[in-house]
Formats: sequence, C-alpha cells, structure tokens
Amino acid sequence: MIDYHVHTSLCNHANGAMEQYIEKAIAADLREICFLDHLTLHKNGSDQSMEPSDIPFYFHSVRQLAHQYERQIQVKVGLEVDFSPETADQAEDIIRSFDFDVIGGSVHFIGSMNIVSSKNAKNTVNRPIDEICGQYLELLDQMVSRNFADIICHLDLFKKFGRRPSSAVNEKFDALLSKISYKPIAVELNTSGMDHPAKEFYPGAALVKACYDHHIPMTLGSDAHEPGQVGRHFEAAIALLRDTGFRNVSAFTRRTGYDIPIV
Ligand SMILES: [Zn+2]
Ligand SMILES: [Zn+2]
Repeated sequence: MIDYHVHTSLCNHANGAMEQYIEKAIAADLREICFLDHLTLHKNGSDQSMEPSDIPFYFHSVRQLAHQYERQIQVKVGLEVDFSPETADQAEDIIRSFDFDVIGGSVHFIGSMNIVSSKNAKNTVNRPIDEICGQYLELLDQMVSRNFADIICHLDLFKKFGRRPSSAVNEKFDALLSKISYKPIAVELNTSGMDHPAKEFYPGAALVKACYDHHIPMTLGSDAHEPGQVGRHFEAAIALLRDTGFRNVSAFTRRTGYDIPIV
C-alpha cells in the first residue's frame, strides 16, 4: 500500500526526521511514501508552513532520501498547497519551478478563519456549519478550476470538530464531484479524521461512494505529523475502499498518475 500524505518538521508543527517517516513506512510494509508538506502563502497560515525559501532544501532532501532508500521503498516528493485566491498565482509559480511528483490541493482557511485550528473552532462555533461548508465548497470549486492540484486533500475537512452540515450541501458536493470527474484529479482518503473529533475519514463513507459513482480515482494518506502516524487506520481505510468497489488507489511520478492495486 501507499501513504501519500506525510509532513516534515519544516512546516513548524510536525515532528521527527524524514528518515523516521520512511523507516516507519518500511516497517508497515508500504511500497511508497510521499512527503506532502505544507505550502501556505497567505499570512494567516504561513507560520504553519514551509517558507518558499525552504523548498529547494526540502525538495532535494527528499530526492536524496529516495535514492538512499530505493531498494526498500519508493519515496516521492510533493506539496500540500493551501489554496487561497489571493496567493494562487504565486503558488503556481513555485509548483512550476520544481519537478514534483504530485501536488495536493487543500482548503484550510476561509478568509482569515482557520477551520482546522481548535482556537478558531471556539470562534466559529456560533456560525452555522452549512454556511461554513458552503464557503469551503466555493473555495474548493475555485481551486479545482485552477488545475494545479493532482489530489484533493481531505475533501470534507469542515467536519473536523464534529459538526456536520445538513443534507442541503449534498447537491453542492455532487456538482463539485461532477466537475472533478472531468479532470485528471484523484480525491484523497485521509485517515487523520479518525483521530479528530470528527471520528471519521475525510471524506466519510457516503462521499467515498459518491467518488466511486463519479468514477473519480482515490489515493490514500495518513496526514502524519509524526513518524508514528504513518499508515494510521489503513486497514479500515482499505476495507472501506474495497467494500465501496475500488480496486486501485492512485500514485504519482512527476505529476503522472498510475494505479496501485488494492490487495
Ligand atoms: Zn491539510
Ligand atoms: Zn496535511
């Protein structure tokens, strides 16, 4: 199996050496691990991200480790790009400057509101979750239109603190998935949500089924912020993918996707 979403200490909120993430992946018998560290350019999130000036070091460090470990595991390098309309041009310039294996697109912020921060959760608790979800999906729609992402990360992240939108958002999700299905984009099954108050994968089973129905490929990632989290909850995640009907997950080399069979 593969883990296509792990971080590094360069983003200022993850721990452990890159080698430790790779060693954990080897111990878990994974065939590929992909570093997908944060690139957040807008000022509200830049302290939780690599600086653009860190990226040459990051990129070349992972490539060197890929060479070092090539007989044991494939090591890939990508970015988790935090989408905001204001910084998208700059992010795309950075993406083009390196030969990344994969680019993940994420929405963590609605304007200045960080939807993944527990501090912000207290501030946003009085705002209707349908409204937050609607704004989040609007940003995802803009992100998909920009065509820079190969993977959509944690599709329904707005549920992190346990609040769920009403069924009124289903139509919006359906429109978004329909748009994604015409593009060479995979949706990530991100297992970190099991360890958050959401207590569910991102996305949950109904949206995994909707991806399948729209013929959208899926990939798999732990969103590990420490080496011990590599491959977390993968047994249940693989069972969900298999039970839904998926026979493969998507992996990438230099922005080109290919299938890895689910065994
Ligand atoms: Zn993220
Ligand atoms: Zn992440």
